[in-house]
Amino acid sequence: MTDIKALVARETDRLSTIRQALHQIPETGFAEKKTARFVAEQLYGIPDIQVTTGIAKTGVLGLLKTGRPGKTLLIRADMDALPISEETGLAFSSTHDNAMHACGHDGNMAMVLTTARILSTIKDRFSGNVTFMFQPAEEWPGGAKPMIEAGILQDPPVDFAVACHLWPGLPSGTLGVKSGVLMAATTVFEIEIIGRGGHGAMPHQCVDALDTAAQVVNALQRVVSRKLNPLTPSVVTVGSLHAGSAPNTIPGKAVLTGTTRTYDKSVWHNFHNILEPVVKGVCDAMGASYKFTLTPGYPPLENDPDMVDIMKKTMLKVVGQDRVMKPESTMGGEDMAFVFEKTKGCYFFIGSGYDGCAPLHNATFDFDETLLQLGVETQVRFALDLLSDQ
Ligand SMILES: [Zn+2]
Ligand SMILES: [Zn+2]
Repeated sequence: MTDIKALVARETDRLSTIRQALHQIPETGFAEKKTARFVAEQLYGIPDIQVTTGIAKTGVLGLLKTGRPGKTLLIRADMDALPISEETGLAFSSTHDNAMHACGHDGNMAMVLTTARILSTIKDRFSGNVTFMFQPAEEWPGGAKPMIEAGILQDPPVDFAVACHLWPGLPSGTLGVKSGVLMAATTVFEIEIIGRGGHGAMPHQCVDALDTAAQVVNALQRVVSRKLNPLTPSVVTVGSLHAGSAPNTIPGKAVLTGTTRTYDKSVWHNFHNILEPVVKGVCDAMGASYKFTLTPGYPPLENDPDMVDIMKKTMLKVVGQDRVMKPESTMGGEDMAFVFEKTKGCYFFIGSGYDGCAPLHNATFDFDETLLQLGVETQVRFALDLLSDQ
């Protein structure tokens, strides 16, 4: 029986080639055309994988059936890049304007493609099926939900799901997993404030939308500290505010946008009712009117305790006890949460942090490619641990 580490080591060059090829053609959410074509071509080259393309626009699915009855595991990679101009100076930098794989999704795809290749060669060592999900638009507005709506969890029915992310918050070369809520539920909101514009020297004739907006921003900072249970971590961030065009003019309109985060589902469902009265109160006091829209994003991402127990044992085999970490939860969001609502799920981190490393979504973000081997080995072993003794 060939050792898994040896099987992964054999794929080292191909893993790096795939990652670098994908890194050069980054595409943002639902525009992953070249990326999806590349992924599908790779999957077509792997024996025994059934390939479906064009799911939820650009999503791709690979299905590996062992032919023996058993459970089905889904392994997910996200395909989208960010609208960032790359500044890494790497030889294989982005060839697309204002698009960059700054969140490591190039690595995620390379890992899952390689996991598929290895599992296909050892499919006599487990039962059931493995579904490889390549989803669009993880960053925004979310490709997992439309792929679920297209039926990807149904035929065969998916029992378990796993996904991972390179994580600068953990030391490079470690693996991190924990049960319970790992990532936050998200929303985005927009507030349009309508006042009455006029001369900067005559404020009494106007309703100052900019000043009202400034007060709204301040008042929203009180929501987490004064209106929510301090034992329920939450965030309200105003990320943009646009108003005015001249120094001597009072603007009649201001638009602000923001995001909320929480681990609590009831707070998540209730955020509209929590925020709107604050906006209304300030606008009423200043004589302005407003339009408030809040759009739910992703649910909280919750790891199944049984899956995490199995994963911890898997990780011990990959990196040894002193390199298996319990990560802090993050207020980041992840639309894999929609899959985890329907299956038993396990999301894990591959530590990629080192002194001075750039954070995710930074124009100089990069990672040590040897880490991808850890991710592949973990996914392959996890599939075996989960599916070989059903
Ligand atoms: Zn990201
Ligand atoms: Zn990401």
